Amino acid sequence: MSKQIQAIRGMNDCLPVQSGLWQYVEGVIRQVVASYGYQEIRTPIVESTDLFKRSIGEVTDIVEKEMYTFNDRNNDSLTLRPEGTASVVRAGNEHGLLYNQQQRLWYMGPMFRHERPQKGRYRQFHQFGIEAFGFAGPDIDAEVILLSSRLWQRFGIQQHVSLEINSLGSNEARSAYKEQLVAYLQSRQSELDEDSLRRLDSNPLRVLDSKNPQVQAVVKDAPKLIDCLDAQSQQHFQALCERLDKLGIQYRVNSALVRGLDYYNRTVFEWVTESLGAQGTVCAGGRYDGLVEQLGGKATQGVGFAIGLERLVLLLQTLAPDTYVAPAVDIYVTAVDDEAQDAIWQVAEQLREQLPWVRTQTHCGGGNVKKQMKKADASGAKLAFLLGQSELQGQYVTVKFLREQQEQITVANQDLVTFVQTQLPGN
Ligand code: ATP
Ligand code: MG
Repeated sequence: MSKQIQAIRGMNDCLPVQSGLWQYVEGVIRQVVASYGYQEIRTPIVESTDLFKRSIGEVTDIVEKEMYTFNDRNNDSLTLRPEGTASVVRAGNEHGLLYNQQQRLWYMGPMFRHERPQKGRYRQFHQFGIEAFGFAGPDIDAEVILLSSRLWQRFGIQQHVSLEINSLGSNEARSAYKEQLVAYLQSRQSELDEDSLRRLDSNPLRVLDSKNPQVQAVVKDAPKLIDCLDAQSQQHFQALCERLDKLGIQYRVNSALVRGLDYYNRTVFEWVTESLGAQGTVCAGGRYDGLVEQLGGKATQGVGFAIGLERLVLLLQTLAPDTYVAPAVDIYVTAVDDEAQDAIWQVAEQLREQLPWVRTQTHCGGGNVKKQMKKADASGAKLAFLLGQSELQGQYVTVKFLREQQEQITVANQDLVTFVQTQLPGN
């Protein structure tokens, strides 16, 4: 036998036992974004490497060490997208969707980062995200957060996630703050790790983001960006907080929250959970007013977030294992003798035509009644239909209730659709 080929490390198959839950999660998301009037945008999985270097920033975890970058046959440097925002902005600029317009967009799909695979951290993972363009005020920041909070409600996990927010202020305020921060960090240089020392020169804010506990202890006493905000950013942040209060959305102001990408300004936020161990950030986002211009468009404000779907699915499986456990089949149709072979196809097709939400499977592969009933049971179906000579002659179907203590019944052919409709009413 030849050697089996395995999937790439950190890239998961989504097997049939999980795909029902994934479809459920995606379905709820689609419904929620539609209920806020957001429209879908789909962009390619591969982009020019420059797109991510210019947007995410050269001195970030993603660009420094996580990107899947390769030269194609033309020797162009391409990268598998590590996140969605840069691509959405690129597409928005390219197709003239942004300047002088307002857009509320969403996307969903695979992202790629070469990280050490562990629970909640993979090399191919999936993000759902929204991006709103052309809104200057804090009201849209609140809407974006509100939409995420609506999702937690829909999934019944609102008690298990909490919101952290911060403001990064304007570019100018941030530059002024950087000087203070660098002075402080230099005074405690001996306590920093290698990564942080390097970042002290190249991108000092990123030191605030460090996951090393020893560095975090230093960061705790650092001057706070939120105390150095420019007046406008301060007003913006205050108005956002007031709106969140009125909407009944609880939050904690976390002054160390700076996010791992360079393009953010003013509002940044994360939804975190304690139920997933180290990979506790389920949703992350913020405002990025400079990005559109940075990528060659005319200045247009932007704000959005991304949710890591694997983490959301893990959270649902941990907190509410019964969230979506449904078999693939509602009705299993069997032929108890050869005479009924044609009829099972007809009955099944009639149901699919008239009641398209009902999931019907016909038995394939022959065998006696006992074997067919075993398959029917294993399919998870609620009902089994049995057809044989007597049923054909009498123009009825024998119905067995597979999940209930109820005697089998017969239903006349002409009443079959109505019968199924009452048994399986759909949405
Ligand atoms: P982390 O701090 O966990 O590395 P990040 O700041 O790199 O996260 P973002 O770039 O903001 O994450 O991505 C948004 C969300 O996407 C994260 O909050 C997380 O839920 C998810 N995510 C990011 N990287 C991965 C990954 N490698 N595997 C699975 N999910 C991920
Ligand atoms: Mg990361």
